[in-house]
Amino acid sequence: QKRQLNKLKNTAATTADDVNIQIFANIEAPSDIATAHKYAIDGVGLFRSEFLYLNRDTLPTEDEQYEIYLDAVKRMKGKPLTIRTVDLGVDKNPRWFSHGDALNPALGLTGIRLCLAEPIMFRTQMRAILRAAVHGPIRMLWPMIGSLSELRLCHAHLDLAKQQLSDRGIVFQADIPTGCMIEIPAAALMVTSLLRQVDFLSIGTNDLIQYTLAVDRSDDAVSYLYQPAHPAVLKLLTHILRSAIKAGKPVSICGEMAGDDRYTRLLLGMGLRQFSMHPSNILRVKNMIVHSNTDEVEKQVWRILRNDDPNKVDDLLKKLNQLDA
Ligand code: PEP
Ligand code: MG
Repeated sequence: QKRQLNKLKNTAATTADDVNIQIFANIEAPSDIATAHKYAIDGVGLFRSEFLYLNRDTLPTEDEQYEIYLDAVKRMKGKPLTIRTVDLGVDKNPRWFSHGDALNPALGLTGIRLCLAEPIMFRTQMRAILRAAVHGPIRMLWPMIGSLSELRLCHAHLDLAKQQLSDRGIVFQADIPTGCMIEIPAAALMVTSLLRQVDFLSIGTNDLIQYTLAVDRSDDAVSYLYQPAHPAVLKLLTHILRSAIKAGKPVSICGEMAGDDRYTRLLLGMGLRQFSMHPSNILRVKNMIVHSNTDEVEKQVWRILRNDDPNKVDDLLKKLNQLDA
């Protein structure tokens, strides 16, 4: 089976009925890009920038970050690189930060909230990204957005970062595409308004599932409740995908769900056309895609989405995955 999968390395992810699916990689450092290229990726859908901030006592400078993003974008060979601004505060805590006595760090000062609370740090990263974007297609992605106000603040900081670069006479890419992650249920419900303020969306199912079901994604005691195909999660995902498609803006999923081939057909049937995942999952997902017919899958998925009973959804999902292409 491994040999069979390896044959898919250089083939495009096209369904049996000729629908083209884009496959992006999730990376944690520029050195991961070489591995990702082995799978004929369409780009990087998620570059987690946290590593720059961890295991050190000082913040990374603008120049230091610029060099790293420049190295990354050069390695992309013209394919898009989506850099997520730093998402700290839950599993990843820098030395200078602690939640103190907070009982629920995952509901505390994390992700974009921490960046908005540390605007100098935030704009330093934005300036480094804007400068690197002169050298190739870079998109800027904001994590853990919970409201339109937060998104507006991000744009205000971005405008200021551009102004600062202009004042210093430094070249930068002014019209960089911006996107927000949908990983808080409130953002999923408000997605139509958020869409007007961004060029693209990326759905972070790891957190979206956690916050929708109130199940800690890292707590083994409740892992049996962490269900990507829970009908409530599927309702939110459907709403996000339909809204983005209606708005004519690209949407991808970059959570683990996109790299799990048990959900590939389900997501295809819901209208997803851009998957972003760890490179090690690409061949299995691609294998599922080339053996799927979107028309047929859509019919089955429609039945799944109408169902509110998690057990029935599981049964229908198993049947869906057993269909021949
Ligand atoms: C997610 O939440 O799905 C996601 C991709 O972000 P992270 O796993 O880094 O929180
Ligand atoms: Mg997340």
